[in-house]
Amino acid sequence: MSQQVIARPVIIRVKCPVCGEQTEVTVSSEDFQNALSGIVRIPIQHQHPTPHLIIIDIDRYGFIRGAYIYRRVIQPTKIPVGEAIDVLGIEKTTYLLYYLLRYEKLRLAGKREIVDKAKLLIHVVGETTKIGESKNVINIDKIKKPRATIQPLRQIVLQSLRLETDDAKAEWIKGEYRRLKDGLKELENVFETRKSWTLDELLKSLKTGINKDELRLLLDIIEDRGYKVSKRIKNAEYKIKGLFG
Ligand SMILES: [Zn+2]
Repeated sequence: MSQQVIARPVIIRVKCPVCGEQTEVTVSSEDFQNALSGIVRIPIQHQHPTPHLIIIDIDRYGFIRGAYIYRRVIQPTKIPVGEAIDVLGIEKTTYLLYYLLRYEKLRLAGKREIVDKAKLLIHVVGETTKIGESKNVINIDKIKKPRATIQPLRQIVLQSLRLETDDAKAEWIKGEYRRLKDGLKELENVFETRKSWTLDELLKSLKTGINKDELRLLLDIIEDRGYKVSKRIKNAEYKIKGLFG
């Protein structure tokens, strides 16, 4: 039997491992546009008995690859996360998350009301100390699309739209951002050694749970930070990238 890649929206039913509730989620081909490796992580929010968050991993054929607890308890927030993303838009929010991961210090510029919304999101991911005087000026009005594998970050922002409350959105965005940040830190430590690897070997050696798309994003960041990534990764596409810039 041949497997069919999702072409039109499919409904997937999943039983929650926390409360036992049966939930239906709709997955469409658009969900996979930012999932280069073909697995999409979908957050699901339940309100009873207490607000909790589960994750399901779906492959491009519509099969559940995993369903697990993300947060047993969703912490409340006063930050209007949904409204902030609404005002900034998906792209600007994605780029902002990228620059926050990329730089240690940032100075924000742009229209007051937009900068204020950006600050709310920076607060959500716990990076307020990164904002201050810096030569890395991010003008939110004209924020540039980074030259990097930003799809994993766009996926986080897009999937947050499935969540109804600001509490759940904040928990999800913060959790995913921190996971990538942990991965970045670990990767930098690994690059301090003199080894070289294939992407798969490198992925296996990391303790932080990240996928191949996310690894590419993090490698793009550390290359931008000055590490000679193409010299250390054995995969052919990285050699080519190194040759042609
Ligand atoms: Zn549940």
